[in-house]
Amino acid sequence: GFPRRGIRNNFVPPIRSSGSNTGHTTSRISGKGDDALDDSTKRCLDILCGPDGELPEKLRNLEPRLLEHVSNEIMDRDPSVHWEDIAGLDHAKKCVTEMVIWPLLRPDIFKGCRSPGRGLLLFGPPGTGKTMIGKAIAGEAKATFFYISASSLTSKWIGEGEKLVRALFGVAACRQPAVIFVDEIDSLLSQRKSEGEHESSRRLKTQFLIEMEGFDSGSEQILLIGATNRPQELDEAARRRLTKRLYIPLPSSEARAWIIRNLLEKDALFKLSKEEIDAICKLTDGYSGSDMKNLVKDASMGPLREALGQGIEITSLKKEDMRTVTVQDFESALQEVRPSVSLNELGTYEEWNKQFGSIA
Ligand code: ADP
Repeated sequence: GFPRRGIRNNFVPPIRSSGSNTGHTTSRISGKGDDALDDSTKRCLDILCGPDGELPEKLRNLEPRLLEHVSNEIMDRDPSVHWEDIAGLDHAKKCVTEMVIWPLLRPDIFKGCRSPGRGLLLFGPPGTGKTMIGKAIAGEAKATFFYISASSLTSKWIGEGEKLVRALFGVAACRQPAVIFVDEIDSLLSQRKSEGEHESSRRLKTQFLIEMEGFDSGSEQILLIGATNRPQELDEAARRRLTKRLYIPLPSSEARAWIIRNLLEKDALFKLSKEEIDAICKLTDGYSGSDMKNLVKDASMGPLREALGQGIEITSLKKEDMRTVTVQDFESALQEVRPSVSLNELGTYEEWNKQFGSIA
């Protein structure tokens, strides 16, 4: 694990330093009027400026280019997912509401004994709604949502990841309440160290843990959500900071039925009876939410393919010429769309959940 003290002692705060910036750094950045910055960067810095028209203290010695990237590519001002869009997962929704949403909405009540953890881990097979939950949290808690994939930090931002992480946490601090969603967090905080871990990725990891510790103790309204399909790769230091760990399993039969109905009804393609839906659900045991979406997509092509097969031109096809989606469409789609998670993998998640998961 990480020696807590060691990290903090060697650490010169990059963004929380109060007041004592040297002229050198401020003149480089304060420059909304800086001619070296192009228009789009200036516009971004404008957005980040406070009511006084100044860039917040915390952001002044960070590179404008990186602030722009955070503001344009990582910050989502209007995450448009709601609880009702997510099938099943009632248990996870309930936990998240108590642990995360209430504290973000009422920080005055959730302090002292009730003070919430600042780190939440969502783990489970891919395509089960982890990202959706992250976005819904931001929406329900009226928080700014930041989405970053940890693998892009380690691959695309080689050598700069550390600086980008600073910019990310810096902007989040100025946009509270904030939810920072780190996808594939295992690739950032994995325990594999020995076989040639690069110096830069080690620094990135350290920086990340430092930032997390920074808002863990304070009164900051920032929540970090990590998502992973490989929880077993997280080390002890990572687990310690992600205090709540929720298992997001494959959808139940009811949740699968809901996904089918919801997607088909949106397009007025739905005419299946309850029995027919039940039959489809029986055949889709082991499918993830995202597998179900792909299945519905494929099945919904059935009526179209059939109409075109009868010689109607696509350009003159009328919507009334198409029948609604049938069980047979699903049966052929099932040949094309196979479940993406193996039984074996499921066992691994359940084991990890028993050992490290939060039951709350
Ligand atoms: P991940 O768990 O990998 O983060 P996502 O949240 O990105 O998965 O889900 C991918 C897509 O699969 C979603 O955009 C949605 O269309 C569908 N999906 C997955 N889980 C659910 C769910 N529980 N309810 C509704 N749709 C889901």
